[in-house]
Amino acid sequence: EDRMLSSEENREDAGIELSLRPEHLKEYIGQTSVKENLSVFIQAAKLRNEPLDHVLLYGPPGLGKTTLAAIIAREMGVGFKTTSGPAIERPGDLAAILTSLDAGDVLFIDEIHRLSRAIEEILYSAMEDFCLDIVIGKGDTARSVRLELPPFTLVGATTRAGSLSSPLRDRFGVMSRLEYYTESDLKEIVKRTGEVFGVHVSDESAEEISRRSRGTPRIANRLLKRVRDFAQVDGTSSISVETAHRALELLQIDRLGLDHIDHKLLQGIIHIYKGGPVGLEAIAASIGEEAETIEDVYEPYLLQVGLLQRTPRGRMVTPLAYDYFGLEDVNRA
Ligand code: ADP
Repeated sequence: EDRMLSSEENREDAGIELSLRPEHLKEYIGQTSVKENLSVFIQAAKLRNEPLDHVLLYGPPGLGKTTLAAIIAREMGVGFKTTSGPAIERPGDLAAILTSLDAGDVLFIDEIHRLSRAIEEILYSAMEDFCLDIVIGKGDTARSVRLELPPFTLVGATTRAGSLSSPLRDRFGVMSRLEYYTESDLKEIVKRTGEVFGVHVSDESAEEISRRSRGTPRIANRLLKRVRDFAQVDGTSSISVETAHRALELLQIDRLGLDHIDHKLLQGIIHIYKGGPVGLEAIAASIGEEAETIEDVYEPYLLQVGLLQRTPRGRMVTPLAYDYFGLEDVNRA
């Protein structure tokens, strides 16, 4: 089942996201300090006529890492190739991609924390010296060959920078953390998406959608898409706040942008574990989700809004969570 609020890309997103991607740094909304830094590094690299340093973008899914990587290539005026950690299984896969690059190109590796150690090690020399040492053949006839590569820029994206080995991390000249978007940034994104869709979105309805988008452009765009369906059925190309409100109620997204899985997670900790602390695995088992998914996708936003807290002994709900559900905190003195 596709979760409406999942910040991970689903099949339906894939089709529309391409048309929604801003193409230039100036059109990329929010993330001011990341943008300012990149803008300087890009200009400097162009003045020196050199490829940009390798860039690592990290942060929760749906915040615009892929979009930013494509913008970097466009601003540098170079080609853009994309792949992902899980797609590179063997050294030959990596060699094929790297040798297909033109000088200066941006190679984007999504989910770079999922590269195997063996592939990571090959990547070190590719990033540092633009060469590739690969072993050809097996046993007695095995020999190592060195391939020269065109200079290129690696842009890596990850939801967990902590899972990268330190030698890999050290080879990125630029590390930028993407933050959750403010409501006013999201409002701007929703309005822009409305223009692409050819619907008029009132200020108030854009605000209503932004408030419930968990700080995430991918979710904001997806919610707008659903709300647009309601407007369409009503026979109008203009989205009023009433329509937005009704759609979001029917989608069961609450005023903080939480859905039934968030509720299940928080209330599970409250009811089953007396508010915690409880280990991630236990939470995962009690709500039937994978621990890694909880950690990468659901939990970061709950931490951000202060309903959940991480302690050395596990996850705890905060007093705010009890208030939010109108429950009494049995642990409060
Ligand atoms: P990630 O790679 O971090 O998962 P994406 O780059 O795929 O996220 O972004 C998801 C969608 O959100 C894109 O289709 C894009 O339209 C939109 N988006 C992301 N960041 C921005 C931004 N800063 N301004 C406008 N739209 C954005």
